[in-house]
Amino acid sequence: VDIDRKAVLLLNSQFVPLNVVSVKKSASLIFREKAEIIEIEEDGSYLIMDIKNWLKYSSEMKNKWDKSNRPYFSSLYETFGCPFAIKLNDFQKVLGKVKLTRKNIFVRDEYTCVYCGKKLHPNYLSIDHIIPKSRGGKNTWENLVTSCIKCNSQKNNKTPKEANLELKYQAKHPSIYQDFKRFFLFSKIDKVILEQWKNFFPEEFHALLKEKGI
Ligand SMILES: [Zn+2]
Repeated sequence: VDIDRKAVLLLNSQFVPLNVVSVKKSASLIFREKAEIIEIEEDGSYLIMDIKNWLKYSSEMKNKWDKSNRPYFSSLYETFGCPFAIKLNDFQKVLGKVKLTRKNIFVRDEYTCVYCGKKLHPNYLSIDHIIPKSRGGKNTWENLVTSCIKCNSQKNNKTPKEANLELKYQAKHPSIYQDFKRFFLFSKIDKVILEQWKNFFPEEFHALLKEKGI
């Protein structure tokens, strides 16, 4: 088990996703009783367990986990399954502020050119000002979009209308869940884990997962 691997969804006490943390960090929060484990069973029921109950549950599930390749730590007396999701016991506010960066714009737009709709590697993408800078266009979420290099050069210092280009989607302020999007889009996170995480995210994420067959 790679304990530094970020694969545990951290939720606040109201079940709102805060972050993705490593197995090590999650274990530390659980053992210090700062967090509890959330396990969603096959029938959709939620189990919420503190460390004592989790160790008991883990040892009961051990044989099943062997078959499904679910990672766990085991000593002679105890078993600790790697959690999929944990929730903090104390309330913590969701900050939800997404920084306006090139990468975050790509993520918001799912690496898709706003003009031709092609999904491309970041090497073939650039950021376009819908209203060009030279015309007073601002650096805002609403004015910055992902564009492929080809469309960007066609657009140049023109407005989309002047360049005869249509916007395939609207540039908006990203949702508070934006930071999680990359985990759903490209991550090497196991399907089994994503299936559990899905329950804590709104509809827009369900569509992303559908593309991955989840
Ligand atoms: Zn394009």
